[in-house]
Amino acid sequence: YSGKSGNQLLGEHLSKLMVRDYKSVPVVCQDEMSVYDAICTMFLEDVGTLFVVKEGGILTGVLSRKDLLKSSMGNQALQNIPVGVAMTRMPNIVTCGLEETLLTAATKLIRNQVDALPVVKEPEKGDGLEVVGRITKTTITKVFVEMGQGTSV
Ligand code: ADP
Repeated sequence: YSGKSGNQLLGEHLSKLMVRDYKSVPVVCQDEMSVYDAICTMFLEDVGTLFVVKEGGILTGVLSRKDLLKSSMGNQALQNIPVGVAMTRMPNIVTCGLEETLLTAATKLIRNQVDALPVVKEPEKGDGLEVVGRITKTTITKVFVEMGQGTSV
């Protein structure tokens, strides 16, 4: 018997879960895409956040549902508004790395009150951050549910 409390064991388990093993596929677009097309993409891809990238998959922005709602209010010509004017831009984007723990990523989601983090790495060449994945509140909820399975639910 290890003598560890349930909380300690849970904490140890949690601190071993890595972003690299839980990230999902990022849905990306270019900043010239129209707000109209971005809304369609969100529906088709069934995501709540799009990551905006330039050549080489380098992160330039993040586009949330509310960003799209805001730019749609009182606006008829959604085909003519590029997402570049609606998105949150680098360097104001909270990201996470492949070698971070899921717990660190979850802490960033809560502290910054956002739904999703782009998972990024240094590009093979050039500057910036290359988008390689996505961690969302759903990612964290899935882990929570997995950990609860095998108990009485
Ligand atoms: P929603 O707007 O649909 O509630 P969020 O809470 O994720 O979704 O987004 C709130 C605001 O924060 C939006 O303006 C969005 O562009 C921005 N945002 C979303 N994710 C990030 C992030 N990882 N880093 C910085 N800003 C973000």
